[in-house]
Amino acid sequence: MATPSRRDTPGALTGQAEDYLKVIYHLERSGEAAATSDIAAELGVAPASVSGMLQRLARLGLVRVERYRGARLAPPGRHVALQLIRRHRIIESFLATKLGYSWDDVHDEAERLEHAASTELIERMAESLGHPTADPHGAPIPTVEGRVDERSLRSIAEMTVRETARVVRMSDRDPAFLRYLAGVGLTPGVEVTIVAIAPFDGPVELRIARKRVSIGAAAAGQVFIEPV
Ligand SMILES: [Zn+2]
Repeated sequence: MATPSRRDTPGALTGQAEDYLKVIYHLERSGEAAATSDIAAELGVAPASVSGMLQRLARLGLVRVERYRGARLAPPGRHVALQLIRRHRIIESFLATKLGYSWDDVHDEAERLEHAASTELIERMAESLGHPTADPHGAPIPTVEGRVDERSLRSIAEMTVRETARVVRMSDRDPAFLRYLAGVGLTPGVEVTIVAIAPFDGPVELRIARKRVSIGAAAAGQVFIEPV
């Protein structure tokens, strides 16, 4: 990193700058540069302020700005983003496993703590958890070296009738959505079989263990699976 760093990770960057890198990391996974308007929407800020921050991050060697396209992470920026994601997901795992938080409660807490916790605290949490590889929502935890499972997974909405698959992960942003999923039995690790799919984005009927449940197409599109 180009800035002198007081701590060993994410270092002298502000929490806001770290959030930019994390958002660009997630947007870039589509393969395209992260568009300024999408970054603004994700962070809830005006596009004009995004341009200013991107210039600063570019000067620090953390992003490359592509005119009219948006921004891509440079390797040092990608490293910062992955370490921030590591911190977030270890904090979530710690809160859920050690402190008894429910899985729909941990995300907002982790959003705050990910910027504040020292690297030593994070690594002690990881150690006490036995170095988990996924967070409570099934999202992979990047390693200290910055390795991470970046497979893009199919969703339940892309399955076919009679197909069986294992639930791997789901988006953790909306606590109500997570409570809903837990209520119908959709949590990481369970196996689901498609019983029926209504046309025109209608409900998807599933079998989970011996139970039959019906979920909307929008929910089905937010739960990601792998073959069993
Ligand atoms: Zn989270």
